[in-house]
Amino acid sequence: MTDKSTLSLVVPVFNEADSISPFINKINGVFSGRSDIHLEIVFINDGSSDSTLENLIQTQSDYPNIKIIDLSRNFGKEAAITAGLEQSRGDAVVVIDVDLQDPPELIPSMIEKWQEGYEVVLACRTNRDSDSWLKRASANSFYWIHNQLSNPKIPANVGDFRLMDRVVVEALKQLPETHRFMKGLFSWVGFKSTVINYSRPKRETGVSKFNGWKLWNFALEGLTSFSTEPLRIWTYIGLAVSIPSFLFAVFIAIRVLISGVDVPGYASIMVAVTFLGGLQLIGIGVLGEYMGRTYMESKRRPNYIIRKIFEVEN
Ligand code: UDP
Ligand code: MG
Repeated sequence: MTDKSTLSLVVPVFNEADSISPFINKINGVFSGRSDIHLEIVFINDGSSDSTLENLIQTQSDYPNIKIIDLSRNFGKEAAITAGLEQSRGDAVVVIDVDLQDPPELIPSMIEKWQEGYEVVLACRTNRDSDSWLKRASANSFYWIHNQLSNPKIPANVGDFRLMDRVVVEALKQLPETHRFMKGLFSWVGFKSTVINYSRPKRETGVSKFNGWKLWNFALEGLTSFSTEPLRIWTYIGLAVSIPSFLFAVFIAIRVLISGVDVPGYASIMVAVTFLGGLQLIGIGVLGEYMGRTYMESKRRPNYIIRKIFEVEN
C-alpha cells in the first residue's frame, strides 16, 4: 500500500471520565512513529452522567484527530458502536473498549493481517482470568447454546474488539434492524476473517457497566435475534408430552373397563396439571419474547439519537 491509509478507532464510552487519558496515552504510545497510518479516533459518549464529555472535549483540543459523538442519552453499547461505525471514515475500523481491556498493542498486528488481505481480524481471548468464574461459565454456556441454535455461529471468546475493512463496515451499515446484537451481526455479514489471540487483562480504571441481569438480557437478545428454534421447539415438546398422555389415557380407559374404577390418583393429577401448566406458561413466554421483538422492530425507531458531533478535522 503506497497511499497513507486511515484507521478509525470506534470507542464507546459510558461514565469513563478516568479512563480517557490512560487510553489516549496508550494509543499514542502504539502509534507514535507510524507514518503509514492516519489515525481517527471516534468516541461515542453514550449518555455519560459524569465528566466524560468535558474530558473528551478537553482532550480534543490537543488531538484534532478525535471526533466526539454525543448521544442524547444512554442507548447501550450496541447502539453506541453502531453510531461509531456510521460516523467513522477509515479504510479500516477497529472497535475497542476504552478501559484498556482490549489491549491497543494488538492493533499493529491486526493492521498487518489486514494488509495481508483479511477483511476482518478478530481478537480472541485465550484466557479470561480477569472475569469471575460465574461470568466465564455463563459466557461459555451462552456461546454453546447460541451456536447450537443459530446460524451463522459466533466464535466463542471473541468480543467486539476487532478490525474491519471498509467493505465490512458498509455491509453492517446496510442492515436495517433495530435490535442490534453486534456479535451476531458481525458474523452474519461474513467476509474473509482471521483470529489473533490475546490474554484479557483486568480493567484499568472504573467499573464494569454490565451486571448479571444486563448480561442475561443481552444473551436473550442474541438468541432471539438469530434463531427461531426456541419457537419451533414447542411443537416437539408439545408432541412429546401429548403423545404419552394420550397413550396413558387409553391405558386408563382399558384398565377401567377391565378392573373397574380406581379412586386414588390425586398426586398424579396434580403433577400432570402443574407440569402442563408450567410448560404452557413457558411456551407463552417464549412467544411473548418474539412478539415483543417484532413489535419493537415494527416501530422502526432509530438506534440512537445524536445530540452533537464535535469535530475538528475533516
Ligand atoms: N459502554 C457503553 N455503553 C453502555 C455500557 C458500556 O458505551 O451502556 C462502554 C464502556 O464505556 C466500555 C465498553 O462499553 O468502553 C465496555 O464496557 P465494560 O468494560 O463495562 O464491559 P465489560 O468489559 O465488563 O464486558
Ligand atoms: Mg471492560
